[in-house]
Amino acid sequence: MPRFHRGPKRKNMKTNCLIIGSGPAGYTAAIYTTRANIKSVLVEGLQAGGQLTQTTTIENFPGFPNGIDGNELMQNMRQQAINVGANIRSGVIKSIDLSKRPFVATLDGGETLEAETVIVATGASAKYLGLDDEKKYAGQGVSACATCDGFFYRKRVVAVVGGGDTACEEAVYLSNLCKKVYMIVRKDYLRASAAMQKRVEERENIEVLYNTNTVGLFGDNGVEGAHLVRFKGTDKEELFDIDIHGFFLAIGHRPNTEFLGGQLALDENGYIVTDHVTTATSVEGVFAAGDVADPRYRQAVAAAGTGCRAALDVEKFLAAI
Ligand code: NDP
Repeated sequence: MPRFHRGPKRKNMKTNCLIIGSGPAGYTAAIYTTRANIKSVLVEGLQAGGQLTQTTTIENFPGFPNGIDGNELMQNMRQQAINVGANIRSGVIKSIDLSKRPFVATLDGGETLEAETVIVATGASAKYLGLDDEKKYAGQGVSACATCDGFFYRKRVVAVVGGGDTACEEAVYLSNLCKKVYMIVRKDYLRASAAMQKRVEERENIEVLYNTNTVGLFGDNGVEGAHLVRFKGTDKEELFDIDIHGFFLAIGHRPNTEFLGGQLALDENGYIVTDHVTTATSVEGVFAAGDVADPRYRQAVAAAGTGCRAALDVEKFLAAI
């Protein structure tokens, strides 16, 4: 007996190029494909504008001699894409079938989208340590974005985990708001660039705790402190606590590839593997741009560059089929 499914009617859209992601790579790709007269749809994902919307001033994106606010830069890119006629949609691609062309993507609302080509530009998301307490105190003291949440910890004591450029940048940002900032660094040095390290050193209210890992968090009313261990696994091992109200993760990012369901070749860290010369992935007609395929440079300008390359690769691919 046939089964009848009730519920919202599902739409089926068709496009020549589906661009997934709205960071510098996605918007740049959309600007290029649209200007090349390729029917394209850009699906923005959960966080329109991507990682740069969570940062402060960007001083290393060429063309802005005095730097530019991350949100403003992304708004400008989005507007530029709209101005050339790009079709931008909000929503999240939940899954995609890459087994044959046209590829079929399913959005969170249940609609499907058929696409002759795909540009994956989904970027990367913040990593967490994997402690149960990070979940327990999510939104109650644990954050992976100092510029989003730092304001809530004005005049309080906070900690930033990590020793890279992001951690240093976040620590400096928080040091303007907070009474004191600890940096919890697992090695005996900072991995960050010399310029960022200097900025950290110049702040009297930043204390770097080297050779230190976090064991857990405590507090009855949100985070009130962290259990730490110094020189873990050595005969100098030492457990101690710090009193903090905010615990900020800045230990890097993980590429957003889950929705691909293992259909594209990834490297050992989960980044999409692309051809050495082009942005082609392991599936013909699927291209990757930006941080999702960049374990090495991970810069906004580099992402925009690969977005441009992916769009040109799509143009060439479509012309050949
Ligand atoms: P990085 O990968 O450079 O640094 C991650 C940091 O987190 C390292 O100190 C690492 O320690 C530490 N870490 C990783 N996992 C753990 C863990 N499980 N426990 C404790 N610590 C951990 O990431 P970033 O996000 O800082 O930077 C990414 C890229 O973006 C870099 O290329 C960076 O230069 C760039 N960037 C540039 C900026 C700028 O130019 N203004 C600003 C921000 C980022 P360890 O060193 O021991 O591995």
